[in-house]
Amino acid sequence: AKARGKNTYHFFSQELNDAANDRLHIENQLREAIREQQFLLYYQPKIDIRTNEVRGYETLLRWLRPDNTMVPPLKFIPVAESTGLIVQIGEWILWEACRFLARQHARGQLITVSVNLSARQFTDQDLPGLVERVLKRTGALAEYLILEITESMLMGDTDAAITQLNELKRLGLALSIDDFGTGYSSLSYLKRFPVDELKIDRSFVKDIPDDKNDMDITAAIIAMAQKMDLRVVAEGVETAEQVDFLLNNACYLVQGYYFSMPLAEQELSRLNFSVVSQ
Ligand code: C2E
Ligand code: CA
Ligand code: CA
Ligand code: CA
Repeated sequence: AKARGKNTYHFFSQELNDAANDRLHIENQLREAIREQQFLLYYQPKIDIRTNEVRGYETLLRWLRPDNTMVPPLKFIPVAESTGLIVQIGEWILWEACRFLARQHARGQLITVSVNLSARQFTDQDLPGLVERVLKRTGALAEYLILEITESMLMGDTDAAITQLNELKRLGLALSIDDFGTGYSSLSYLKRFPVDELKIDRSFVKDIPDDKNDMDITAAIIAMAQKMDLRVVAEGVETAEQVDFLLNNACYLVQGYYFSMPLAEQELSRLNFSVVSQ
């Protein structure tokens, strides 16, 4: 399983590819994947570029099929979402991520773990209770858990969204808005949501320093986040120039291939970064 260490998907099976339009087929395969425990989590470090220390990890779902092909999440999460299977898979992700977090605590590492939530999971009334149980049973500390949601999940029934966010925050965890800038958002709208962090979408970062417009937008998001007392993270950082730009604009938390691809847990120890510890 050499492919597991690399975040490449070229082993993606032809069989599944042919069936890409066959929702039912993927749905059946997803059920089997749940039964046979074919999912695993990868972890991408979040680096503080002032010190080059790991501050946390984002968990990213991987589906490793028995023939060793890795299916990219964007190929199956939409099906999992529309069939509702994401609720079950998402529950497993939470347990796995919090067990990982508890293992880091046990090693004295003061790092955060970020978990992506799907829309179905986020609107699920049982989510706060589930998170509370998972934290309690795994011993993971809430203050080191970050839940990532997207702007689109906050649209629609905003009152219900705010209620849910408050329920989650009551547990002591942090909330992050993923892919920030790609959805419909405004300042007044953002102020209504009790969130702690913004993640600048890769689409704004990827053409820095060639695209002046993207640089202006990125700088504006960083300035806005600071004004609103929100932590800001840049994602998809791939070059030294991008790191310099972010450093100069006071965005210190960064994720991207420049530092590391998402890795399996056993590969994290090979990373050349120090980790904040007790
Ligand atoms: P996302 O949450 O925005 O995750 C970031 C994606 O960018 C990941 O792709 C990551 O591998 C990739 N990435 C990180 N650094 C770089 C970089 O420097 N350059 C480039 N080109 N890409 C980079 P991945 O793992 O394929 O995940 C894609 C999307 O699938 C995620 O986007 C998220 O929306 C969804 N997803 C992944 N894991 C989960 C999960 O556990 N639960 C849910 N609900 N969704 C997930
Ligand atoms: Ca994310
Ligand atoms: Ca993102
Ligand atoms: Ca994204």
